[in-house]
Amino acid sequence: MIRNKCERIFTFIFVILLLIFIIFLCFRKKTVTIQNTTEALDTVITVKLSSDSLSENELNEVSLKLFEEINRLSLIFSATDENSELFKLNNSKHGTPYPVSDELFDLFEISLKYAYLTDGAFDITLGKLINIWDITGDEKQVPSDDAILPLKKLENYKDISLDFKLKTVTYNDDFDVNLGAIAKGYIGDKVKALAKSLGVSFGTINMGGNILAIGEKEGGKNWNIAITNPKEPSSYFATVSVKDKCVVTSGNYERYFIKDGKRYHHILDPFTGYPSENGIVSVTIIGDNSATCDALSTGCYVLGLEKSLELINKIDGYDCILINENGDYFTSGGISKYNLDIK
Ligand code: AMP
Ligand code: MG
Repeated sequence: MIRNKCERIFTFIFVILLLIFIIFLCFRKKTVTIQNTTEALDTVITVKLSSDSLSENELNEVSLKLFEEINRLSLIFSATDENSELFKLNNSKHGTPYPVSDELFDLFEISLKYAYLTDGAFDITLGKLINIWDITGDEKQVPSDDAILPLKKLENYKDISLDFKLKTVTYNDDFDVNLGAIAKGYIGDKVKALAKSLGVSFGTINMGGNILAIGEKEGGKNWNIAITNPKEPSSYFATVSVKDKCVVTSGNYERYFIKDGKRYHHILDPFTGYPSENGIVSVTIIGDNSATCDALSTGCYVLGLEKSLELINKIDGYDCILINENGDYFTSGGISKYNLDIK
């Protein structure tokens, strides 16, 4: 009798729990994930987006909006597209204040901050030097010393003035600006913010050497981000584990040509006029803001080991991994929080 009663109670509780479980499954928010790829900014861009509130179609539409935003912004910052705002500014009358869009002004402001902070190792005024090297151009050749001489040690970033009220930029000397070392980072920040505002809950934006993690992985896990092995760019050197951070790398394997057995890569030392040669072949910066990471990765590449570690250790919230030509690596003081795993 008592046993029967107990059995009935247990069956009742079991049925109730089963019902609760079925209701939970039916009403549980489903996470939808999509992945899309485009080509822009001279690289392949892949977004992997997840949302707790959007459908697959809606997420695909979001990724299209992100790609449109990338194209819109790259048309402002391109140094080569004749229709870009930067191209027009470079070709305007130097010495005269030139009114620019909020975004271009913003990027000039950030760029100048990091030019001063790196003592000109990161310098957006290398346009003419970058053009004569034309690392990815059709006729790859080393420019003559005579061509390089007038374009080195100029520190023209000191000859840019910004009017914060009128939003104008003035070039106070004869130089061209190239934003190739920071534009991708800046665009990454804008696109990440847009993705969040459009309902993306978490994901990654992979823009070549610039990777942005949106939030944390499902279940509160970290994202494992791979750092390319500079000696064998198809393999990894290490991984770092991050949440909602950017991981940006500058490396000598990204763009280069080989002439007479020597590699000429795309990161130029403004003081020698030649590709930077100080033993460092890869710099990864981790932090919240990808424009900052991008400027610092290029700047530190040129600054070299000691000065870079000194600089990054002073900047709150930013860490670095530098790799030299022997495959040795060096890190800033705060790197342990990213679980650096060397392969
Ligand atoms: P990144 O891959 O971010 O290090 O940027 C490298 C690109 O920035 C090059 O392809 C050039 O267009 C430009 N660049 C090269 N050297 C410098 C430098 N020292 N400072 C700023 N921009 C540079
Ligand atoms: Mg950079």
